[in-house]
Amino acid sequence: MIEAVRGDITEQAVDAIVNAANSSLLGGGGVDGAIHRAGGPEILAECRLLGGCDTGGARATTAGRLSSRYVIHVVGPVWRGGEAGEAELLASCHRRALELAAELGCTSIAFPAISTGIYGYPVELAAPVAVAAARRAQRPPVELVRFVLFTPVHLDAFQRALTEAK
Ligand code: ADP
Repeated sequence: MIEAVRGDITEQAVDAIVNAANSSLLGGGGVDGAIHRAGGPEILAECRLLGGCDTGGARATTAGRLSSRYVIHVVGPVWRGGEAGEAELLASCHRRALELAAELGCTSIAFPAISTGIYGYPVELAAPVAVAAARRAQRPPVELVRFVLFTPVHLDAFQRALTEAK
């Protein structure tokens, strides 16, 4: 099942939450800042040992004080107008996160709207890419993929993508 809800990713009771990180994995603003604030210093300490992550990739850590088991850190593409492979890189983030979640035995995972904040990817273009990639990459034991959107505009774009992709 794939769903879209409005909310805060740090408050989701799922096995894994996905972080929209930067390639250093050493912390940033937006959703990354919120996850490290809520989860505590343990997550950053684990991130330091990972040595970064390529754009389109995903790396897992435990989740510190958060109620999930894992944080899966992905690095989305910076929007450069749409002709620089952004859609493939954004799809890759979702695919790699779902592969990792399945390897870790997760049954549920929550994604924020990767790349649509500081990285500037227009949400009406990002939402269909994210939803299609999640649909293709979803596999057992993952049963629930939840997109958690911070604003009504983001929620609307994801709900539309879910309806249109049916
Ligand atoms: P990126 O650098 O990949 O663009 P950002 O963290 O700047 O990542 O933004 C990604 C999305 O996450 C934005 O749509 C932003 O509104 C949203 N966001 C910010 N904080 C939270 C949160 N606590 N829970 C869910 N979404 C959030």
